[in-house]
Amino acid sequence: MKGEKLDTIKNLIRTIPDYPKKGIMFRDITTLLADATGFKKTISGLCEPYVADTVDAVVAIEARGFILGGAVADRLGCSFIPLRKKGKLPYKTFKQEYVLEYNSDTIEIHADAIKQDARIIIIDDLIATGGTAEAAVKLIKLIGGEIIGAAFVIDLAEMGGRQKLESIGVGCNVLVTY
Ligand code: AMP
Repeated sequence: MKGEKLDTIKNLIRTIPDYPKKGIMFRDITTLLADATGFKKTISGLCEPYVADTVDAVVAIEARGFILGGAVADRLGCSFIPLRKKGKLPYKTFKQEYVLEYNSDTIEIHADAIKQDARIIIIDDLIATGGTAEAAVKLIKLIGGEIIGAAFVIDLAEMGGRQKLESIGVGCNVLVTY
């Protein structure tokens, strides 16, 4: 995606200092989603690296990942698999704990969500330390998925998440970097 379009996306992201706690610069994508052109460009940018590839499913992370991941799956013509916070999925699940920039949590996936060797892309709004995405990678591999990449709107570069994912063999595509 060209620099001009990426600038449009970056300009629509709102930064809220000291949320949810002091010292965190919260990158708020609600202002981007509220702009029809910005939202469309974002979905195009997330899909672009994979349009010529075979993608069987998008795995997206609750909650902001769902907004983007659903649209990406529709655009790529593949299925959508939710990774949810603990206790939200009704059927048998596998769980993975992870540490965030400002708390820790557990995500779950339905035990039968992924067909063996299905080609998966991971979608979320932002990668910081990479802890959440790494937990997603572990769950997807555990139930037999083949991860062909991960895409994020925002990379908080100094948090090192992208390198962490790439060091475990997952290529990342990001639209804007802070
Ligand atoms: P991490 O696991 O550290 O890569 O954190 C990524 C997850 O935490 C994403 O799902 C983000 O939505 C959220 N997150 C972490 N840091 C921020 C931030 N500074 N602004 C907005 N969301 C964040």
